Amino acid sequence: MTAETQASTVADPTAAQPAAAKITVATVWLDGCSGCHMSFLDMDERLVDLAQKIDVVYSPFVDNKTLPEQVDVGIIEGSVSNEEDEHKARLFRKHCRLLVSIGDCAVNGNVPAMRNPFNLESVYERAYLENVNVNQQIPTQGVPALLKTVRPVHGVVDVDVFIPGCPPHADTIHSILTDLIEGRTPEPIKITRFGA
Ligand code: SF4
Repeated sequence: MTAETQASTVADPTAAQPAAAKITVATVWLDGCSGCHMSFLDMDERLVDLAQKIDVVYSPFVDNKTLPEQVDVGIIEGSVSNEEDEHKARLFRKHCRLLVSIGDCAVNGNVPAMRNPFNLESVYERAYLENVNVNQQIPTQGVPALLKTVRPVHGVVDVDVFIPGCPPHADTIHSILTDLIEGRTPEPIKITRFGA
């Protein structure tokens, strides 16, 4: 090999390095208050740095409303309370390599599951008849049918990572996302708890 050809094979340390591949992230909220998504946004300026490392491909945060075929990390807020929730949970499980339950509603049912001791008929009556002064009626169209009982996400599909908290703190979400981005197994239970 001549000196000339040898030189051409030595990496130029000043050359631009190819950008590291971003991980794709999808988020959805089922029966939740959106507080866990708000806590995600509470990462504030750290979102700018995260945007270099993750690509949010489906979420209430972004315009794209079609879940891609393959997503690295799916994050679910909220419990599974109606038929649409169940459909979305199954869709996320099918298309997301790793599934995360974020917040107590997703992890254990939390507030939405407070209706579980009551039968469905009395829940509908309470919501649409007893507590309503105008146009009392139980809707039969345009809203997804309630399931008999509220379930946490892992009551419907397998979940890989559980992040308790109501909502989990932005620092907790940042720490766990950083672990996932850097290929570590997160240990949420060391940094958050139910009701945190
Ligand atoms: Fe809202 Fe708390 Fe449920 Fe999150 S866990 S969706 S903050 S009620």
